[in-house]
Amino acid sequence: MRKLLKFSNPLGWSAIDRQILLATLVMLLPTLMAGYAVVIQLRDPTTLVPAYLAAFVSFCSVYLLLLIGFTAVAVKRRARGSGWHAMEQFVSMSYAVAVLFTTYLFGVHLTLGVLLLFIGISIVCALGNPAIIHRIYWWVVGLIVLIGLVQYFGFLPYSPMLNHSQYDPMGRPTDSLLSFWALVGFIASLIMYLATVSVESWVEREGQYKKMSMLDDLTGLMNRRAFIDLAQQEINRSQRRVAFQKQAPYLGCIMLDLDHFKNINDNFGHDAGDEVLRLCAELITRQVRPYDLVGRFGGEEFSVILPGADHASSVEVASRICEAINNLIVQGRNYQINVTASIGVSCFPVTHQQQLEELLRVADDALYAAKRQGRNQVIFKSFTEDRI
Ligand code: GH3
Ligand code: MG
Ligand code: MG
Repeated sequence: MRKLLKFSNPLGWSAIDRQILLATLVMLLPTLMAGYAVVIQLRDPTTLVPAYLAAFVSFCSVYLLLLIGFTAVAVKRRARGSGWHAMEQFVSMSYAVAVLFTTYLFGVHLTLGVLLLFIGISIVCALGNPAIIHRIYWWVVGLIVLIGLVQYFGFLPYSPMLNHSQYDPMGRPTDSLLSFWALVGFIASLIMYLATVSVESWVEREGQYKKMSMLDDLTGLMNRRAFIDLAQQEINRSQRRVAFQKQAPYLGCIMLDLDHFKNINDNFGHDAGDEVLRLCAELITRQVRPYDLVGRFGGEEFSVILPGADHASSVEVASRICEAINNLIVQGRNYQINVTASIGVSCFPVTHQQQLEELLRVADDALYAAKRQGRNQVIFKSFTEDRI
């Protein structure tokens, strides 16, 4: 029983399964409409125009049979897994036409008709192909306007199916109309729930993809692109703050490159190199504040943005990182690796003219100065120094 009640999210189903579910839900339309027509006629034989009733029930039956036919073929094609374009087109388009046609006959195209079209959009967005909605949207809107106009000018009768209104002289709906609306409301709520569950999981998946595209697989740090995006946002935020502060806030930047990393790979293997990268990333993150940005800039190159850190504190953080890496010993089963890093630091008071690229370039220059001067050290380079 529990297994029966626990069904997976339809969004995760294969395309053909989602189309089968969509077609099955659409079958409710002709069933409900024909059922409603028969029920009100049985209750009061003067309600409907008899010739119309027969034509209407036939129309609903043919439509239902077509949907069942498409669904039966789709069930046979399930093994292939991929969607069936013709069925998708038929189900979506025929639904729009059937809604407009049947609701027009009862004179409810502007109320129930629009509601049913809206529910159709919700489920197609969740289960089907929203591009189809784009394609038929203008046709549907055009048809609604056209029906309104021809009725207004008297070319077409209003609610041709009905001999008399479904409301009493006080405007109260008859019992059968009320029960019908209640049933439609109940089914609509279930379908809307299905749509919200699907959209929710779609949004969650989007979030996961976004996160995956921002993070570096190996270290879990931001990748270069995400780092640059967030660093730019940080600069923009600081620049907005400049307007309210007498003194511009500082922004520190650290560029770090592991020394002779190629030797680590060559001597101990790529996996050991990966382990060193992971541990260094962890170590750098531990040395900075939670709101500093840490990214993996390239192979064995890391970068940090320190919002609000002036020259002295940026160098202090960089020295702490340099010392911690120097003290790091990566212990393998039959090897022991000592690592060192060269670090370049730059810092500027954030004003409108300064750019992120400049900040990174100056820190990078400082990094290469550290390499030239013997590695395993921190070199600071200021902006003004760079400009002279
Ligand atoms: P230097 O001190 O001048 O920086 O020398 P280096 O050997 O560290 O620099 P080089 O640029 O010559 O070599 C970097 C090496 O980093 C080469 C590349 O194979 C390795 N590398 C890049 N990405 C990864 C990775 O994800 N995992 C591992 N294990 N190695 C990587
Ligand atoms: Mg290196
Ligand atoms: Mg390098």
